[in-house]
Amino acid sequence: MAAKKLQSIRGIHDGLPAEVRLWQKVESAARKVFSTYAFSEVRLPILEPTELFVRSIGEATDIVSKEMYAFTDQGNDNICLRPEGTAGSVRAYLQGGLTRSGTQRWFYIGPMFRRERPQKGRLRQFQQIGVEMFGANGPLEDAEVLAMAHNFLSELGISGLQLEVNSLGCSACRPGYREALLTYLNERSDKLCETCVERVDKNPMRVLDCKETSCQAELNDAPEMVNHLCEGCETHFSGLKVGLHALNVPYKINARIVRGLDYYNRTAFEIVTDQLGSQGTVLAGGRYDGLVTELGGPATSAIGFAAGLERLGMLLNETDAALVDVAVVALGEEVISYSMQQAAQLRGEGFSVVHCGGGSAKRQFKVVDREGARFVVIIGEEEMQQARVTLKDMATGDQQQLSVDKLTAVLGKSSKAETI
Ligand SMILES: [Zn+2]
Ligand SMILES: [Zn+2]
Repeated sequence: MAAKKLQSIRGIHDGLPAEVRLWQKVESAARKVFSTYAFSEVRLPILEPTELFVRSIGEATDIVSKEMYAFTDQGNDNICLRPEGTAGSVRAYLQGGLTRSGTQRWFYIGPMFRRERPQKGRLRQFQQIGVEMFGANGPLEDAEVLAMAHNFLSELGISGLQLEVNSLGCSACRPGYREALLTYLNERSDKLCETCVERVDKNPMRVLDCKETSCQAELNDAPEMVNHLCEGCETHFSGLKVGLHALNVPYKINARIVRGLDYYNRTAFEIVTDQLGSQGTVLAGGRYDGLVTELGGPATSAIGFAAGLERLGMLLNETDAALVDVAVVALGEEVISYSMQQAAQLRGEGFSVVHCGGGSAKRQFKVVDREGARFVVIIGEEEMQQARVTLKDMATGDQQQLSVDKLTAVLGKSSKAETI
């Protein structure tokens, strides 16, 4: 009997080459765009003390109470696999003694873990690209962070992007708004879903982003935070809008964007796209000026955002990340050595090349198809003697004869120019 094949853990999946190529494309766009805003990469631990998330996200949340992979290790320490990246960033910022080192601009790319109910598009190990900026409190910095997020997604060629912004106010103006919202919701509590009825007491602002259409219908005339801002928050919000105008980033105000936790304040934003059929959030973030003190540091302004790498990968065109630039087809035994040299030459120029291995033309063109090569270089005896090759563009079907010394220039113009 054959040995039983082992499966990966439920909700945790393998990144195989075709998908990883898409992720790498997302990652290089992130590195390219973020570095132009002077953000640097940090590489932070996957294992953290469980207490870090109990203190930052809070015990009452689903993430901490139900979804964390938390355990006691052999030394009796309570540790967990990080469910998100912000708390660890704040811990590292404080532990690294960077509170007096000026503005810190960070980004990270890596796996996060939440034991959620597995369903399509929701993994228990998922990857995030996250950005955190510490020590900048002005609305213009907010505008730049939002513009950077927008540039990053545009760089990937994702279409139908819409930036939506809101202000969550601050500890001075939010309580007043909360009262107004409570009054409104209490008048309609018989029409809200069960979860929202519970939310009204604990965290009424969470009702605003309930996904139930029946709840959304009740919220049409609900009071909006942007109309209850104190003077400081109002100035900040208009400064943000001025900044977005100056940077030519289109946005709309969405009063339903909320965050579940108290340390979030002022700017909150999401970028949505309709590219996956229905409108979906691909990136979300906001200001969290309260978190650094919550974790024991001095009062420090902070803003950040995060996006799921798997989801971004799904939005890319798979052909955009073709692995093979050129497949080399050798027609006839006598051209094998020469064709191998041509392949080596192209690799030297930085192209990714597979040699189809000679043999029958039919077999070799099967290899070309399977590899998904962008171009095919065909070399027969006649081509070899004249130092020429036949170049076929697989996207257009066009075929041309050209001398070998022109080959890299022609290939370079049509393939490398399009890749990131
Ligand atoms: Zn305020
Ligand atoms: Zn609801």
